[in-house]
Amino acid sequence: MVLDTATLRIAFGVMALVLGLLFYFSSYRTTRSPYSGWWCVALGFFLGGATAFLLNGTAHQWWANTLGNVLLVNGGVAVWAGARSLRDVPPKRWVFTGLPAITLVATAIDHPGTNVWAGGPVFLAAMCLTMGLASQELWRLEPGYSRARVPMAAAAGFMSVFYLARLVVFLIDGQSGPIFVTFFGSAVTTMVTMVLLVVVSFSMAGLSTEQQTRALRMVATRDDLTGLLNRKGFLDLAAPLLRDRTVTQGKGALILADLDHFKEVNDTYGHAAGDMALQAFAGACQDTVRSTDLVGRYGGEEFVVLIPGASSTRAGLVAEEISRRLAQVNAADGLKMPTVSYGVALYHAGTRDVEDLIAAADEALYTAKSQGRNRTVHSDRSAGPL
Ligand code: GH3
Ligand code: MG
Ligand code: MG
Repeated sequence: MVLDTATLRIAFGVMALVLGLLFYFSSYRTTRSPYSGWWCVALGFFLGGATAFLLNGTAHQWWANTLGNVLLVNGGVAVWAGARSLRDVPPKRWVFTGLPAITLVATAIDHPGTNVWAGGPVFLAAMCLTMGLASQELWRLEPGYSRARVPMAAAAGFMSVFYLARLVVFLIDGQSGPIFVTFFGSAVTTMVTMVLLVVVSFSMAGLSTEQQTRALRMVATRDDLTGLLNRKGFLDLAAPLLRDRTVTQGKGALILADLDHFKEVNDTYGHAAGDMALQAFAGACQDTVRSTDLVGRYGGEEFVVLIPGASSTRAGLVAEEISRRLAQVNAADGLKMPTVSYGVALYHAGTRDVEDLIAAADEALYTAKSQGRNRTVHSDRSAGPL
């Protein structure tokens, strides 16, 4: 049986295209996981490389062959970058620009117009390196990741060893040598790569979902009782909002709210009723603010609201509205909802630190308490340099 390289490359190209499209629509579009994004990029490079090689033997060979080598090496780098993204580590720049650049030069000076294996050793070494790095990344993943990584790590490892063997046999046997052509030539490589692409794409879908789930778990740090963000969740999301100057020019208000004499609610009506009052307050907050504002339970019976773009007046109105809604809640067993004290601090483009802002609001809240509760006090302290 004679395996015709051109036919195999077309089959490979079609497969990479279909896998890429399937992967893009079924995995990347829904999960937006960086890993599946990188895998789409890699498939694109492999598809491009295989297509470029189809021009071997034509007048275009000199540039197509060079381009093909560079695209395939870029594909290898993308696989490695994807594996690295699972540990949230960005790809190293030198690999991205350096390896394709070296491959480009090595191929270009090796008569790519007449020599189909121009730059062969460098290309083979670069592929061996990127696959090896990808495999190492996948093995190094913490055990928390499922076993889906094992077939991928093995596939990348196998590719790395396969390219190493190709390189060695290429150097010893020569590009036309019988061993190289029979076992390590383009036809066999294309077939092997096809099989591995399928294996990897299958495991990938699993890993991408896992990566997304982890990201969600990290971000959605919620408070059990009220469903609001907990302190960490709030702080994590508030920090980038303070830095975002696009919509609000970096201005806005932070409100710290503390339920008045809440201990008495617990003591009089019981802890369960206290819990209910906390839930009612959380509901009043959420019904008052917009979806672009942040509401969190800062701890106990203290809550925090961040309103990008709000003036001091608007923050006061928001506080008033929250209290009005809370007072309207009809609770069972004659439970009367507590009143609330608020401290408001404004932030501006110079404010860097959420904690500073909270400290300013906390001071104002303390004043509200000492002035008799059930009121809003605005901080006159500026959080950060103006
Ligand atoms: P002040 O007006 O000065 O804020 O008085 P306070 O009674 O509200 O403040 P204090 O800090 O003395 O008491 C807060 C109470 O909140 C005590 C604590 O038991 C109660 N608490 C904190 N977390 C929860 C909770 O999850 N559920 C219930 N039911 N009570 C809670
Ligand atoms: Mg308190
Ligand atoms: Mg209180």
